[in-house]
Amino acid sequence: MEDTPISRRLKSVKNIIIVLSGKGGVGKSSVTTQLALSLYASSPAARVGILDVDLTGPSIPRMLGVDGHGVHQSTDGWVPVYADGSQARLACMSVGFLLKNKGDSVVWRGPKKNGMIRQFLSDVRWGELDYLVIDTPPGTSDEHLSLMEHLAPIHSRLSSVIVTTPQAVALVDVMKCVSFTRTVNLPVLGVIENMSGYVCPCCGEISNVFSTGGGESIAKRENMPFLGSLPIDTELVTLLDASDQEEKTIPVTNADALPSFKLMES
Ligand code: ADP
Repeated sequence: MEDTPISRRLKSVKNIIIVLSGKGGVGKSSVTTQLALSLYASSPAARVGILDVDLTGPSIPRMLGVDGHGVHQSTDGWVPVYADGSQARLACMSVGFLLKNKGDSVVWRGPKKNGMIRQFLSDVRWGELDYLVIDTPPGTSDEHLSLMEHLAPIHSRLSSVIVTTPQAVALVDVMKCVSFTRTVNLPVLGVIENMSGYVCPCCGEISNVFSTGGGESIAKRENMPFLGSLPIDTELVTLLDASDQEEKTIPVTNADALPSFKLMES
């Protein structure tokens, strides 16, 4: 393994899962959050980190209920924000923690974004982690390439998950993600279809708001595992989008939909 500041910093991180989506608004950050929480809940000893490299639209702090928290510098780098308080098993780092005001936007050119990603990977004091889940911007952009370049020395510990909605237009974008993973030789753990049907809160009947099954068929066609479908969940959206709750507990309702992650334990 090539010795770089990033490989040294991440040597105690067992698995790194990069979450991708063809376009915005399909629920990539929500799935990242749910996935991290599922892994966290999978064992009382599991240690999980979430790195939000969606630099222009960081939403993980809000979803985890740690919006407005600040990170501080120690002599050994940035201390992440722990979303589970003193247990310190669910660490999070996001550009959102570095902005002076909540509404500030990040308007940076490529080299500055690249520098930020490098710093996130080399300077955060994650400690021992079973999983580091990385939320990326929508599509396949410079940020994705930077990420892959910086993580090249630890390529064997990388894998990815592709999030899509069931409609055909979203699936065209998924193919761009698939093609990206093949170009950079990034293993795909599987495809997750989000917003797949709406469960009526009154009677529990499922209506297919969009067409259905697209994620599964693309997974089959491209020879990738299908990890499951997540329905539109009104309770989840209220929890994820609320920003001012003192303590927020997001239910891990969909843990069973993600069985393949158990296979990753090394
Ligand atoms: P992306 O990261 O792909 O841009 P987000 O995760 O930010 O998408 O989700 C966009 C919006 O959709 C958010 O308001 C989020 O709460 C909502 N959302 C995502 N997944 C679901 C779901 N399964 N059920 C209900 N709302 C969802």
